[in-house]
Amino acid sequence: MDHIVRAVADNDHIRAFAALTKDMTEDARIAHNSSPVVTAALGRLLTAGAMMGAMMKGDDDILTLQIKGNGAMQGLTVTADSHGNVKGYPIEPLVLLPPRESDHKLDVGGAIGRGTLRVIKDLGLKEPYVGEVDLVTSEIAEDLTYYFAQSEQIPSTVGLGVLMNKDNTVRSAGGFIVQLMPDVKDATIDRLEDNLKKISSVTDLLDQGRTPTDILGMLLEGLDMQVLDETPTFFKCDCSPQKIEKALIATGRAELQSMIDEGREIEMECSFCRKKYIVSVEELKKLLSRASTS
Ligand SMILES: [Zn+2]
Repeated sequence: MDHIVRAVADNDHIRAFAALTKDMTEDARIAHNSSPVVTAALGRLLTAGAMMGAMMKGDDDILTLQIKGNGAMQGLTVTADSHGNVKGYPIEPLVLLPPRESDHKLDVGGAIGRGTLRVIKDLGLKEPYVGEVDLVTSEIAEDLTYYFAQSEQIPSTVGLGVLMNKDNTVRSAGGFIVQLMPDVKDATIDRLEDNLKKISSVTDLLDQGRTPTDILGMLLEGLDMQVLDETPTFFKCDCSPQKIEKALIATGRAELQSMIDEGREIEMECSFCRKKYIVSVEELKKLLSRASTS
């Protein structure tokens, strides 16, 4: 089952996260009927979202990761809470690209293209925290590494991977984030770098049956790792008829009136999970009366 493992090492000078996200990525693929390269991109960003969500402390904290690019996929958005619930969607789910010539891997960077990565954290304060960086490789893991260094001044290593089956279902997915806290010793950094060299690819390790805890054990070998907790994580959308109604009311009186004048029920689709909501003309009229009183 999908889960996130949190750990610290070297007397809290290192904090680390690893996640198994195969089911989440497959659920996202089914919801969006996405092509392999889009599923890989979405799975990587969902995995990062799950782990970065686990970094937040407040019960109601919400993290959004938004990538915009000039490639055929155009971008993707992932939202996570601090309890392991993650949702996300690609702008263009059906992009097909040949594999990269260099290593025959899915060309996530090519599908996203050049662009920006935006991280929005709603921590219940007056204003949300927003950090934005230019994409470095558009392969997502390197872009997040760059984001952590630039926007949060936290030296980090991020590994993310999605492996597909021949029938285009998800074979394995997961990742890790290792971060250096202030006053970390050079010897610790050297050891960590040596350990990282031994990790070829996170998907290969998961495919071999290694667990997130195993992967953290390899990353933090010789550094006195302590596992803090293990929490389940899911692809889960929190859309509801009430949220759809709110969104309709927010379009304003004129827009609602023109929908009513059309005389037909309307269909609203949730971007994150593609669930469809039918709103009847009668319901639209009720919403109009609510819009007029607000
Ligand atoms: Zn939804």
